[in-house]
Amino acid sequence: MALSDAFLMELRNRADIETTISSYINLKRAGRISKGLCPFHGEKTPSFTVYPDTQSYYCFGCGNGGDVITFIKNIENLDYIDAVRFLADKNGMNMPEENSYDDTMNKRRLRMLEANREAAKFFHSCLGTKDGTIGYQYFKNRGLSDDTIRRFGLGFAPDSFFALTNYMMSKGYTKEELVFANLARRSTKNPNNIYDNFRNRVMFPIIDVKGNVIAFGGRVMDDSKPKYLNTSDTLVYKKSQGVFALNLAKKSGKDSLILCEGYMDVIALHQAGFTNAVAGLGTALTSEQAQLLSRYASEIMISYDADEAGQKAATRALEIFKNTTANIKVLHLSGGKDPDEILKKYGVEKMKAIINGAANEIEFALLRVQGNYDIASDDGKRQYLQEAIKILSKVGAIELDIYASRLSDELSVSKDVIVNEAKRQAKRNVTVERKKEFTKIQTQGDVLDKLNPQRKMFYAAAKAEEMLITLLMANPEFLKSVDEKISYNDFITDFNRRIYKSVTDRLRDGKSADISFIAGDLTDQEISAVAKIQTISHTLKNTFDECEDCIKVIINEKNKKNIKDVAVEDISDEEFLNFFKKDDN
Ligand SMILES: [Zn+2]
Repeated sequence: MALSDAFLMELRNRADIETTISSYINLKRAGRISKGLCPFHGEKTPSFTVYPDTQSYYCFGCGNGGDVITFIKNIENLDYIDAVRFLADKNGMNMPEENSYDDTMNKRRLRMLEANREAAKFFHSCLGTKDGTIGYQYFKNRGLSDDTIRRFGLGFAPDSFFALTNYMMSKGYTKEELVFANLARRSTKNPNNIYDNFRNRVMFPIIDVKGNVIAFGGRVMDDSKPKYLNTSDTLVYKKSQGVFALNLAKKSGKDSLILCEGYMDVIALHQAGFTNAVAGLGTALTSEQAQLLSRYASEIMISYDADEAGQKAATRALEIFKNTTANIKVLHLSGGKDPDEILKKYGVEKMKAIINGAANEIEFALLRVQGNYDIASDDGKRQYLQEAIKILSKVGAIELDIYASRLSDELSVSKDVIVNEAKRQAKRNVTVERKKEFTKIQTQGDVLDKLNPQRKMFYAAAKAEEMLITLLMANPEFLKSVDEKISYNDFITDFNRRIYKSVTDRLRDGKSADISFIAGDLTDQEISAVAKIQTISHTLKNTFDECEDCIKVIINEKNKKNIKDVAVEDISDEEFLNFFKKDDN
């Protein structure tokens, strides 16, 4: 996988870490660092930190960290070489010659995408055959036009164990390839035999934003179970990241997306002209999907089913979208259970009215709790007010003013009382949140303590070792003088010794030892640990005096440790004397 230093250097210069990460999450600059809400774990106060000086990032909440390539690897769920390719593409650079790095995974991935496309063509063509009439009729009964069926590439998997596999093998695909793509399964009795994964189902191809067919959803046409069968995770598809119809919605020309629960809702909305509708795959929205969606639109309208389950899912989705830059609204689907039904019953105008009347997050939360109480009664009014104040305790000053006024009119309660109560509750919230996040960080433990188990025992030395590593990474010119005073053999903790050796070996060869360059020899967790080590960087003055201080501590601690090591092995006076007695005999 060896990419040249020159290439990596150029990539690092062009793909600035702060700019790159800013396109995914909101970062706020504070001095020499930037902070934001971590995209890799749920949090309410930012512990995700970007260090432009060292071109690295580290999250103090979940321990994820590394350089710009690591970030892309994690957020786009790519392997190393594809993350590099992704960044190179974005920054107008060509990848080096193919044979200079290992490209096997990429070739396998391309082959799988070709297989999926071929399978999608097969399923679609089946709609026009005798066996597929039943599938075609199903779509027609659901009100879809031929044009819609074509646009979404819908299809039918025949009621056969070998229809697709025979077709694909005639096209030159091997059994192994079909099993890997999850288009076929191996027989448990005879693993040499394979059979079709999707049988007697209408088929929905899942197409990514680049137009690749990455997976399939298959739906039964009656009430048998499972209702939906989806491709499980493969080389080209991660269920947690999939979004249905984003390929079409991104071309809608709108800066908003309608997020639905099911494929049929999306298709019905598109057919009615709402071409910005999409759906997640599987039931619960993931933070990866939320990140992906917020990259394509600044406003997301959640349009989940009107039932209790759908509304709960909407509340959860709102929470997940908080870690993104998107502005979120919730559609109040009155008169029908889902968009498909509303369009059929009342038509396009009703749907438009629903979209125009979409509730923002606060309105949605208030509506949700209001539904639980009878506000005509004093008791119901009081309980609703208590719940409403909890909601308002989490909003900004302007929103508080607006909604306190509304509530005051609605319930005939003084606005001042509502505002004051909300503010008091807000103070309580902060304490509770802090406690929660503190325990979370405590229980998760530090990535460095995990990878460097000696760190706790030799804390002073380990801290000095880490500081020296950071100083040398940023100031290669100190190496010669440092080498005269200390060698990696003097390091006490094994992990730091290994990192120090790798850094200084590179510097001695006149190469860069930035995190991107040493990352090739490290595991993901080790990269996070190095990023953690570097988090002290912006607090340093970068002087040689600091190096000397570190060296003093390390050597001191090493001497102390040597004395202790001897002490442990020491024998008692009695044993000592006995030893010589024996010898004298
Ligand atoms: Zn995190």
